[in-house]
Amino acid sequence: MVLVDYHIHSHFSHDSESSIPHILATCREKGITSFVVTDHYEVSCKDIWKDWVFDVQDYTKEMKKNSLLVGVELGWDGVTPINLDLTQFDFVLLSHHDLDEPLDQQSYVKYLERLNNLIRKIDVFHSLAHLDFPRRYHKEKEAFSKDTYDLLREIFKYLVQKGKFLELNTRTISIYGEPNPDIEILNLYKSCGGEMLTLGSDAHDTNNIGMGIKEAIEILKNIGYKYIMIFDGTWKFKKI
Ligand SMILES: [Zn+2]
Repeated sequence: MVLVDYHIHSHFSHDSESSIPHILATCREKGITSFVVTDHYEVSCKDIWKDWVFDVQDYTKEMKKNSLLVGVELGWDGVTPINLDLTQFDFVLLSHHDLDEPLDQQSYVKYLERLNNLIRKIDVFHSLAHLDFPRRYHKEKEAFSKDTYDLLREIFKYLVQKGKFLELNTRTISIYGEPNPDIEILNLYKSCGGEMLTLGSDAHDTNNIGMGIKEAIEILKNIGYKYIMIFDGTWKFKKI
């Protein structure tokens, strides 16, 4: 059982390429035996995010009808009240999507400062998503420099202490050869005692389901990780 999350954003629908039966069929074709859909629900005061919500009741009903876990990618600005009962989800992937312009090392620091703050303000989440997310939008895909590592250590120590997981997001492997977060940062996580990781393909499209997962497992093995986290009623370490 490999935990693959699949973000279909707010385009969840009953009768299109984003429908659950279509996703299930695609997973079967690709040999993905276990996954959780984490549709993106953004809690933000910014107008640009106002459509990034979905009907939780309808979503939950559809997942249950198909005997699937109910997951969510909760995007949060860290300020706006979360009027959503997060305990109703089997899997909560916490994320932050606000970026500062221009994108540079300074704005990376600002992003991490907000992240470091917001993880301390929310209890109900399992895994922290795509940690070096701003790098995706940098023109040259510049990595987070060592100057950000003190902040990253703080974040990691908190996650470890609280028993929260880190997401290895495979989306960028096909774009610039490294996952979110990158290999150096995954090394840093390990050196901070971090050993609990979930894998996410951040697919957005059924064609991309499971993309980069094999590469991600190789990356983890090379760093010295031996397990990823899976859920089958309870959270367990799964040997890779
Ligand atoms: Zn995201």
